[in-house]
Amino acid sequence: MSKKLEGKIALVTGGSRGIGAAIAKRLADDGASVAITYSKGSDAAASVVKAIQRDGGKAIAIQADAADAEAVKAAVEKTVAAFGQLDVLVNNAGTAFPKSFEEATPEELDRVININIRGVFVATQAALKHMKSGSRIIMIGSAIGERVAAPGLVPYAATKGAVKMFTQALAREIGSRGITVNNVQPGPIDTELNPAAGDWAVPQKAATALNRYGHVDEIAAMVAFVAGPESSYVTGANLTVDGGMNA
Ligand code: NDP
Repeated sequence: MSKKLEGKIALVTGGSRGIGAAIAKRLADDGASVAITYSKGSDAAASVVKAIQRDGGKAIAIQADAADAEAVKAAVEKTVAAFGQLDVLVNNAGTAFPKSFEEATPEELDRVININIRGVFVATQAALKHMKSGSRIIMIGSAIGERVAAPGLVPYAATKGAVKMFTQALAREIGSRGITVNNVQPGPIDTELNPAAGDWAVPQKAATALNRYGHVDEIAAMVAFVAGPESSYVTGANLTVDGGMNA
């Protein structure tokens, strides 16, 4: 039986660790050839590529800081040059500077905006130049983009709220091209950005209905569904995968 994403080409930004690495591996398992970007972790990116190749898949890693528009555009072009087309873009690269809003520096505000919003705009624009009917644009927003349960994440929440409305607005604008745009919104997922061990994790875990952190594969599963043929009538949707945190 052919795999669901056989013949498809996917680009996952920030695919060297955490949620992005799990998404890249899952899309490759489903048959896609995958390009990942990273900013600093070339060894981690290379190990994701190796893991995919070991399982018989095709993958490449491209260094491209999401805050650097030229690098992001070049990453899209390199993906198309390597694999011939682009069918799925996963805007996963993102960051946060947890602290009181009044203590956030202008540099931190610029960085979180440039990575979480501007990087998403630039990658999406570049990808759309190559996308045909049936293609998929998938954001990794956040459950915090809809409801904020704790202090310390004001600029981050604002950027993820922007990602949510970007998704809805773009879905309206490009629906006539047969391209869907969706926003997967994780709750607390155990990664280096949000480790399940530590003081910061206690209230997050308690806020979920399932009383646990999520696993990166639980986000990758939703992304695989949205990337695949069965989600053909899903667009402009905010798909929250948060163990019931926002329930
Ligand atoms: P991690 O910090 O664990 O991993 C981030 C990944 O993105 C790494 O591969 C990293 O590569 C890459 N990355 C970071 N900054 C940049 C950049 N400027 N340009 C390109 N790549 C970059 O994060 P998570 O996996 O936890 O988060 C992934 C996404 O999920 C983010 O958008 C985050 O906001 C979102 N999210 C996460 C939640 C969680 O609880 N973990 C909850 C809700 C949303 P490198 O090491 O090279 O920088």
